[in-house]
Amino acid sequence: MKKKLKFNSAKARSELVELQGGKCCYCRKPFAETRPKQPTLEHKKPKMYGGTNERSNLAAACWQCNQRRGRQMNATKQRKEAKA
Ligand SMILES: [Zn+2]
Repeated sequence: MKKKLKFNSAKARSELVELQGGKCCYCRKPFAETRPKQPTLEHKKPKMYGGTNERSNLAAACWQCNQRRGRQMNATKQRKEAKA
């Protein structure tokens, strides 16, 4: 049985960080240099577009990139809702 990775668990995060060589998936800055240092987990394909919690859909990003992306996503969502 395939073990599902729990989204945003410390283990998932540390595994992804290791896979990415300790760097942010967007700006490629080492997490040791980003502030705050704690990396965040990202869905490459957002859940609202059918993304899953599989490791292949997850990436570790620094806090700044995560915030930036989150804002873009919220803007998209708001546009969608405004249309509906
Ligand atoms: Zn970054």
